Amino acid sequence: MDFSSSDCYRFKTFIENMNDAIVVENESGELVLANQAFCDLFNITASPDDLIGMDCSYSAQQSKHLFKDPERFIERKNEILKDKEPVRHELLEMVGDKFLERDFIPIFENGEYVGLVWVFKDLTTHYIMESQLMMLTEKIREQSLTDSLTGIGNRRYLDSELPKYCDYAKRHNTPLCIAIIDIDYFKSINDEYGHEIGDQALVHVANYLKASVRSSDLIGRMGGEEFMVVMPETSLADAAKRISDLHASYQSPSVLNKRMTFSVGVSCVLPERDFKTSLNSADQALYQAKREGRDRVVVSED
Ligand code: GH3
Ligand code: MG
Ligand code: MG
Repeated sequence: MDFSSSDCYRFKTFIENMNDAIVVENESGELVLANQAFCDLFNITASPDDLIGMDCSYSAQQSKHLFKDPERFIERKNEILKDKEPVRHELLEMVGDKFLERDFIPIFENGEYVGLVWVFKDLTTHYIMESQLMMLTEKIREQSLTDSLTGIGNRRYLDSELPKYCDYAKRHNTPLCIAIIDIDYFKSINDEYGHEIGDQALVHVANYLKASVRSSDLIGRMGGEEFMVVMPETSLADAAKRISDLHASYQSPSVLNKRMTFSVGVSCVLPERDFKTSLNSADQALYQAKREGRDRVVVSED
């Protein structure tokens, strides 16, 4: 390839001014054109004109250490040169957490191979932004499912997780139980001690529940002073025992100088019925516990 004609002069000017790093090789693998962006990207101190005539295969060997997997870089380059098929948007990982995108364009004149163009784009900023965006998205997702006061899962989290637990239990024919926990006379705690102490009491209960349940259990704040514990692979009898123990071992928050109790309704998710029915049963059991004097556990007979 010769860059003396006026068409080629325009092409050369165009390449010199591109932001992407560009190298043009002839059919013998000699560099016929490179731009400043190429020198900048690969930290080459020589000017693009000084590179003309350079053996590209030799210079690839010289610069392979810049790539995370140097041998693979050479191997892949040789594959591409052998195939002479265009390659688009191939990702290259470089040392120092740098990412490049590479295009390969073979040039044919009247069916005869006359050279090639390599185009390199620095995607490092793009990748950094993408990974920051992914982390941010994950953080927002996590925040949207976390109760900001107690740090446990919120209503949205329970709504999204409970059906999965129920599906699993039905598919594997294992028992699953639900407990709905509601603090007794919580309004009077707020009235007597103020909202801030009320908040501390809620955190106390959430921490207690979190510390008492199994890691495989699902726990969350349904809203206000109501919490839920979902116990997979637990029969109704076992759930009744576990929740009764949890209820019996509970101690009021030390910020209050009186007892603060809670009531619980427990039910079992049955394979043949919708889990919402079981939720309703747990709710009914909770109301019964309230009606019967509070500070107790009622297990649904349904
Ligand atoms: P019961 O024994 O029948 O459950 O009575 P209760 O007073 O606990 O129930 P009620 O539904 O009458 O009152 C719940 C109270 O919980 C009212 C509301 O102000 C309080 N509450 C809800 N969310 C919060 C919160 O985030 N912080 C505080 N401090 N209080 C809350
Ligand atoms: Mg309530
Ligand atoms: Mg209450």
